[in-house]
Amino acid sequence: MENLPNCPKCNSEYTYEDGNLFVCPECAHEWTLESQEANAEEAVIKDANGNVLNDGDTITVIKDLKVKGSSSVVKQGTKVKNIKLVEGDHDIDCKIDGFGAMKLKSEFVKKI
Ligand SMILES: [Zn+2]
Repeated sequence: MENLPNCPKCNSEYTYEDGNLFVCPECAHEWTLESQEANAEEAVIKDANGNVLNDGDTITVIKDLKVKGSSSVVKQGTKVKNIKLVEGDHDIDCKIDGFGAMKLKSEFVKKI
């Protein structure tokens, strides 16, 4: 009983198990371990160094990236402001000067 997760809503440590549910006695939130893990995975997108990225962050590109459908290349070191995190294989939505709207992979960027 010692390894129960804290409540994801109010962070209470007095959670208990009820069947396959976890229940928080303080805010009455109920959740399953599966839903908690799914949420955790969705919520965290990390850069190449393992730093957590957030909407609005400024990043640099750490390797030359070919732009799909064109001969352009986003150069290593290109600075990108005000990123937006999205779901999917390319998990960063952004605008790059001279290129316009782009999607990048978080593994190829570094937070500044
Ligand atoms: Zn709670």
